[in-house]
Amino acid sequence: MKERCLVLIKPDALEKRITGLVVDRLERLELDIVAAKTLAATEDLIRKHYAHLAGKPFLESTVHYMMGDYNHIANHKIIAFVFQGEDAVKKIRTALGATNPDNAAPDTIRGSFGKFDKVADVVYNCVHASDSAQDAEREIALWFKPGEVLDA
Ligand code: UDP
Ligand code: MG
Repeated sequence: MKERCLVLIKPDALEKRITGLVVDRLERLELDIVAAKTLAATEDLIRKHYAHLAGKPFLESTVHYMMGDYNHIANHKIIAFVFQGEDAVKKIRTALGATNPDNAAPDTIRGSFGKFDKVADVVYNCVHASDSAQDAEREIALWFKPGEVLDA
């Protein structure tokens, strides 16, 4: 089924300058990029985005991570994409690998570029992708205005 998927290049990926490598992997999936922009996400946006993490012990560290508020990283920008195509969510999440890079297969994006900081207990997994087509629509409405997303 043709569907959309939000992809966020997280601050650690921008710091490592691996956006091109990540997008290269995702372009191999033969989906359409129908929106893209760089932004410094507000705390409010990040908290809305991660509303499903309410009550989880790692919520606060994840919000800090997404704000770039860690490891002295001053560049806290995020690049947001919308990909569209057949089974976009499943294809992209398979390419990403498991949430924790330590559990992600080495040839996946998170397995290749992510890092689990065991001491701080923070998962630096470089990239976000929507969990489902339904959640993608909720997330896209948070990150993009309607006119910023094309219909491929
Ligand atoms: N996260 C974390 N520790 C965990 C699970 C999640 O730090 O044990 C963070 C991580 O940045 C992850 C985000 O919270 O990407 C959202 O969690 P989710 O379960 O939705 O994983 P995802 O869909 O990103 O694979
Ligand atoms: Mg998720």
